[in-house]
Amino acid sequence: MEYDKNNIFARILRKEIPADIVYEDNYTLAFHDINPKAPIHILVIPKGDFISFFDFAEKATPELMVAFDKAIHHVIHTFDLQNEGFRILSNHGVHGGQEVPHYHVHIFGGRPLGRMLPEK
Ligand code: 5GP
Repeated sequence: MEYDKNNIFARILRKEIPADIVYEDNYTLAFHDINPKAPIHILVIPKGDFISFFDFAEKATPELMVAFDKAIHHVIHTFDLQNEGFRILSNHGVHGGQEVPHYHVHIFGGRPLGRMLPEK
């Protein structure tokens, strides 16, 4: 599968469409999800053409991988989620329910989040 350069997060990265940005550095961008599923729901995306975690793990440089994890850590710290707790999640493909084909990690927090998955 080829990376779609016009997916919505690629356009947010190019600043063609707005996002409520909470963190940015040379490697990553983090912004509020437009349809939050928890009081805090942030998306963290790498700067680069990566479709999902699988693609990122295959192609990203170690430098980018470390920077990406550090950015997630930074956002968790910014929203002070480390004591009460949080969830990080990344979807891939049809069974994962991925909607936007640019690798992103969801950070959820601000309320008890329940067990990992809904019952079938
Ligand atoms: P996925 O299902 O691909 O893991 O999650 C995609 C997420 O992106 C969804 O939670 C959805 O609400 C969010 N989203 C989709 N379009 C936009 C947008 O234009 N701006 C922002 N900030 N979030 C978006």
